[in-house]
Amino acid sequence: MSEIKLKRYEGNQSFEGDKRTYMPYILEWKCSKCGHQNQQDFGDDYISYPPLGTPFDYEYLYCGECEHEEKPIKLQISMELILVSSKQREDEQ
Ligand SMILES: [Zn+2]
Repeated sequence: MSEIKLKRYEGNQSFEGDKRTYMPYILEWKCSKCGHQNQQDFGDDYISYPPLGTPFDYEYLYCGECEHEEKPIKLQISMELILVSSKQREDEQ
């Protein structure tokens, strides 16, 4: 059996998330206008086609109380693919 390797692309190859990318994170902020404490649960509210491994503007910071819109912030999704084991599964007979 030959050795199994996993190599990352060299250079700046872009890749992106899915149309509906859900993440196990909750963004919390206080409205700069009315002081209301807001939450954005990325487990419920998806991000569309986020770039992976590079910063992007996130501009959907609306206050749930007064609808004030905050200025965009920058987020970044880090992702890596790891070869955990190169041991191949035996075919079951
Ligand atoms: Zn507000």
